[in-house]
Formats: sequence, structure tokens, C-alpha cells
Amino acid sequence: MTAADRAEIVILGAGIAGSALAHHLAGRHAGPIVVYDPATPGAGATGRAAGIVTEQLWDRWDVEVTRASKAEYAALALRWDPSVYAVNGFARWTRDPAAADAVAPAIERLRAWGVHVEPIDPAGLERRVPAGRFPDVRAAMWGPDDSVVTPSAMNEIYAESARRAGVDFELGLPFKRFHRTDGAWELETASRRIRSPRAVLAAGAWSKRLANGAGHPLPLVPYRTQAAVLRPSPPEPATLPSVHDIDLDVYVRPESNGRILAGDGTERVEADPETFRPGGDEAFVGHLAESFASRFPGWSEAEMVRAWAGVCTATPDRRALVGPVPGAEGLHAITGFNGFGVMRAGGVSARLAEVLSAGEGDPSAERLLGPVLPGRFAGAPGPFLPRPGFTLEAGDDPRF
Ligand SMILES: Cc1cc2nc3c(=O)[nH]c(=O)nc-3n(C[C@H](O)[C@H](O)[C@H](O)COP(=O)(O)OP(=O)(O)OC[C@H]3O[C@@H](n4cnc5c(N)ncnc54)[C@H](O)[C@@H]3O)c2cc1C
Repeated sequence: MTAADRAEIVILGAGIAGSALAHHLAGRHAGPIVVYDPATPGAGATGRAAGIVTEQLWDRWDVEVTRASKAEYAALALRWDPSVYAVNGFARWTRDPAAADAVAPAIERLRAWGVHVEPIDPAGLERRVPAGRFPDVRAAMWGPDDSVVTPSAMNEIYAESARRAGVDFELGLPFKRFHRTDGAWELETASRRIRSPRAVLAAGAWSKRLANGAGHPLPLVPYRTQAAVLRPSPPEPATLPSVHDIDLDVYVRPESNGRILAGDGTERVEADPETFRPGGDEAFVGHLAESFASRFPGWSEAEMVRAWAGVCTATPDRRALVGPVPGAEGLHAITGFNGFGVMRAGGVSARLAEVLSAGEGDPSAERLLGPVLPGRFAGAPGPFLPRPGFTLEAGDDPRF
């Protein structure tokens, strides 16, 4: 067997979380860093994501990191490719009386967290989304500062920026194992072994298996979620806002060349990232068609270009898992984004980079990552199922 290469930190996974972390660590001169992915950046959920970036979230910490991501995506897009990021605003509405009662408190809560949101009436919605009809909408909110990013392009920007700063990307080599041996973490691929005192699980839906294999199970459940690109006639302008119908659980964002991207809610069963069905289901496409007929008649004849699925990663409390893995010296995680990892990756990875640079035992982990530290789940993780993330209400047990 060949001798193992040495690194200071090995990052497992080159999706947007792993690549953004490499970018931030490289800027901090954290020593030799290797990012390993058996596929390519964007091969996982990132390359299949919608890329809506919104501060209309259910947790203050999430709002703060998403705001940091937004600022970073805007700056990186300006430097690398302005077409990958745009502020287009985001509207959400409901016709359900009980959910409508939760909209005003949601606006109040979000404003208290510094989020720019305001109520919007059906006429206002119709002005912004001419393809829609909203006479039955009881309550709606509008966030003018929300935005969209092209997830695969931002992933590439992070990876290329990290590469230029000296990070070694090891891509496309089959995975053999990842384990602790002789006081270090060792990654073994088909043709290379790398040993490092510190390692970061950034492998999205694959993190569960890696953590189990390393002997440190984490409370993660991978689940499938779907999206589709459609071509309406006439084409939609790039200024179309992103929208979310809370009752139908359908969201839409503008895509390039006048197209739109529409997505569906969470599938509440565990999926295997190795064997999941990557195409869109008939049920999903049918639900979109029905939703368009009732809510967006202007898009009901839109041509379906492509529908697909990706695998996201749920945690029991819908918050991410970021920071030191309890009981595992030198092992960290940045995963469990519950379907919202693109919008959080920039901000969260900057915080984790700061914690990693400060070194083991530094109190910055509690300050920067308090609500998402993996140590909040004591003992062996019990079974749980994914719960919808995009809720109107805050807290761990939302009704809407
Ligand atoms: C249809 C859909 C729509 C979405 N829409 C949005 C949205 O609008 N906004 C938003 O914020 N989020 C959205 N998401 C969620 C978002 O895609 C994820 O939260 C985010 O991409 C997670 O990034 P990641 O880097 O953690 O994981 P991934 O992008 O999944 O990357 C994990 C990487 O790990 C690699 N890997 C696999 N095995 C190993 C191994 N053994 N060792 C090392 N690496 C390994 C994989 O090849 C992959 O490249 C959406 C997801 C889907 C599927």
C-alpha cells in the first residue's frame, strides 16, 4: 500500500457547503486542505436545487446566516458572473383562514429579526405575477430584498476560488472508506489515502452513511424532493418574483430564457441517495398541472421542459448540523440543511471556517454556531421523519 498523503483538514463533499467552506478556510490560511468528492461539485442536491434565497424563515439564526450568504453571493456574482445572482423579491400567500391568521404575526416576527417584509393584497400580487389569479387569497406577504442564485454556478465559483487559493480538489475517485486510525482521520479512495487531524462531513445526503461508518451516527434522514422547468408562452421576464403558494405547497422562480422553475414540498419518507429515483414522478407533474390550472392560468399551457428529483437531508428539529461532532476528536459536520442549504451555505461555512481556524475547544463554536451544534442531540439518534421546512410559523412544531 502507498504511503498516505497528509493534510491539515479534509472536507468530504464538494457541494456548495464543502466548496464554500474550502473557500473560507483558504482565506484563513488554515494549512493544506483537501476537498474530496467521488463525483463533481454540484453532483448532489446543489446541482438540482431551485436556488431561492429568502429571509422569510422560521428561525432567527437562519435569517442571519442567509443574510450573510446573500451579501456574499451578490459580491461573488459581481466578480465572477453577474448572471448567477439577482434580487427579484419573494411573495407568499394563503387562502386558508387559519393560515391567514398566522401571516400578520409572521410579518411582525420577521420584522423584529430585521427582515424587510410587508403585507401585499391580491391586486398587488396580480401586478407582480400577471400569470396568477388571486381573488381568493386572504393574506400574503412580500419580501422585496429576496433573491435567486444559480446553485451549480455558485458552487463552481466557490470551488474555483478555493482551488486558486491552493486547495486540493480530489474529484471522481471512487470512495473506499473514512475512519479513525492511529490518532488521525483517514480517507481512503480507489487510488489515494489522505490522513488529517481534522475532517469535515459535508456530503449532504451521504453524510449519514459516512458518519455511521466512522462510528459517530448523526440524526440525519435523507429525503427526496422535486422540481421542474417549464416554458410559458409568452416568456416570463427575469424580474418575475419568486412565489410560494402555502396551501398548494408549490413554489416558482424565474429561470433563464423566459422559463420558470417550479417545485414541490417535502416527501416525508427516508430516501437512499444511492438508489433514489432521479426523475420527476407523474404525481408531482400532475400536482403542478392542477396547481397551475387553479392558481396560475397564464402558465397552464406551459411546455414541460424537464422534471427531476434530488435528495436533501432532514434533522429532528429542522435546524442544520454544523460544528464539532460530539465524542469524535477533530471531526466536524456541515450538513442537515432540511432543503435550504443553498441559501445558508455561504453564511454558515464562513462561521464554521472561523471555528475551525480558532482550534479545538475555542468558545467561538458556541457563539457562532450555538443553535446548530450537533451536540444538542444527546445519545444515539432515535428514528424520525422529515418535516416540511418552509413554514410560516417559527418554532419546532408549526401548523403552517
Ligand atoms: C429540487 C430541490 C430544490 C431545492 N431548492 C432549494 C432552494 O430553492 N434554496 C435552497 O437554499 N436550497 C434548496 N434545495 C436544497 C439544497 O439543494 C441543499 O440543501 C444543498 O444543496 C445542500 O448542499 P450540500 O453541499 O450540503 O450537499 P450536496 O450538494 O448534496 O453535496 C454533497 C456532495 O457529497 C458528495 N459525496 C457523496 N458521497 C461522498 C463520500 N463518500 N465522500 C465525500 N463526498 C461524498 C456528493 O457527490 C455531493 O457532491 C433544494 C434541493 C432540491 C433537491
